[in-house]
Amino acid sequence: MRVRLRVEQDVFVVRQLAREVAREVGLEQQDQTRLATALSEVSRVVLAAGTDADVTFTVQQDGVSTALRLAVERRSSGGEQQLRAELGHVGRLMDMLEVENDGTGTVVWMARRLPASAPRLTQERMDEIRAGLARHVPGSPLDELNVQNQQLIAALDEVRAQRDELARLNAELEETNRGVMALYHQLSEELEETNRGVVALYAELDEKSEQLAAASEAKSRFLANVSHELRAPVTAVIGLSRLLADEGSDPLTDEQRRQVDLIRGSSSDLLSLVNDLLDLAKAEAGRLEPVWEEVDLKAMFGQLRGTLRPLATRPEVDFRIDEPAVASMRSDEVLLARVLRNLLTNALKFTAEGEVRLAVRPVESDVEFTVTDTGTGIPAELHERIFEEFYQVPGSKALNGKGTGLGLPYARRLAGILGGALRVRSTPGEGSTFTLRLPAS
Ligand code: ADP
Repeated sequence: MRVRLRVEQDVFVVRQLAREVAREVGLEQQDQTRLATALSEVSRVVLAAGTDADVTFTVQQDGVSTALRLAVERRSSGGEQQLRAELGHVGRLMDMLEVENDGTGTVVWMARRLPASAPRLTQERMDEIRAGLARHVPGSPLDELNVQNQQLIAALDEVRAQRDELARLNAELEETNRGVMALYHQLSEELEETNRGVVALYAELDEKSEQLAAASEAKSRFLANVSHELRAPVTAVIGLSRLLADEGSDPLTDEQRRQVDLIRGSSSDLLSLVNDLLDLAKAEAGRLEPVWEEVDLKAMFGQLRGTLRPLATRPEVDFRIDEPAVASMRSDEVLLARVLRNLLTNALKFTAEGEVRLAVRPVESDVEFTVTDTGTGIPAELHERIFEEFYQVPGSKALNGKGTGLGLPYARRLAGILGGALRVRSTPGEGSTFTLRLPAS
C-alpha cells in the first residue's frame, strides 16, 4: 500500500493507517502504537524539510519470520546524515530503522517483526486487508488526538503498574537479603562455637595422649627393670639345680631328683618369660635401634633352616624353607631373623601334620615374607587378640613347650620398628599364614 504525504494533515492519516495495518497483520496493541508513533514521527520530520514523500507498507516473509516493512521516500536526496541523527530515538520503537540514499532520493526504512502468534498472511488475507484499508475513512486530527490520549493514559497506567511491581520486588529482595544476612551471621557464630569446641577437644586429646605415653613409658621401664633384675637370680636357680642333679654331687633319692628336675623346669620357663618380657619392654620403650645394612636373605634362610631343624621333629610335618626369591634387602638382620624365628617356632608348635613353610617374594616396592602352616588355625575373631600381651587362644595346645603369649606382640613391634607390618590369615582346622611385609630399601 502506498500513501502520499503532502500536508501536515497527512501525518494524522498515515498514523491512523499505520495503526490499522498493524492491527490487521496481527501486531499487539502496544506494537500498534509503537509503529504508528514511529511512522508519524518520521513523516513529520520528513515533511518538515518541505518536500513531498510517499509512504509504502509492505509485508516481508523470509521463511522464518514475517515483518511489516515501511518506507518513507522523498524525491530529493541529501541530508541523510542529519536525518539519521534526528530519527535516532525513533529507531528504539522499531526492530530496524535505516536511512539511505537510493540514487533518486532519500528513503527511511523501518521494520517490525510480527509475533509468532499472528495469523498467517495468505494472498486472500492480504487482499482482504487491502480492501478493508481502501474503505478506511480518515478521522479528524481531533479524533486522532483522542486516540493518542487514550493510548497515553494506557501507557502511563502500565508504567505505574510496573513501577509498583518494581517497588514490591525491591522490598521483597531487601527482606530476603536481611534473612540471608541473619542466617549467615547465625551460621558463622555456630561455626565459631564449633571451632572453639574442637580446639578445646584437641587440647584435651593432646594432654591425654601425653599422659598415655608417659604411662606406657613408665610401664615399659618398670618391666625392663624388673625382668632385668629377675634374670640373675633365676639363672642362679637353674645353675644350682643343675649342680644338685650333677653326677659329681652327692647322690639324690629318686624323689629328690624328681623335685630338683621340677625346680629346673620351672626356672627355665621363668627365665624364658623374663627374657621375652625384657625383649618386649625394650622394643616398646623404643630402645631398640635397628642397624640398617644389606641383608643376605639366602644366608639368613640357611641359618634359620639350621637352627630350627631340631624343633621340626615330627616326620608327619614337612618343614620347608624355600630358596629366597629376593636375594637381599636393606634391614636389620638380627631383628628380622628374630621375627621369622618367632613365627616359624609358633607354626611348628601348632602343626601336627602337613607342612610348615617359609617363603619370600617381592611385592611392588616391598618384600613379603610368608610363614604358612597346616596347623590348628585361629578363629577369625581372635586374629587381633593374639597380638596382645599374654593372650593365648583358649584350648590351643602347643605340641612342645608352654609359651608365654609374648612372642606375637614382640614380633609385631619388631615389624613396626623395621618399617613394616605383620598380619595373619587363618582358618581353624586348616592352618595359618603370617605375612610380614617390609620395605625393600
Ligand atoms: P606363645 O608363646 O603362646 O606362642 P604368641 O604370642 O607367639 O605366644 O602366640 C599367641 C597365641 O596365638 C598362641 O598361644 C596360640 O594360641 C596362637 N598362635 C600363634 N601362632 C599360631 C599358629 N601358627 N597356629 C595356631 N595358633 C597360633
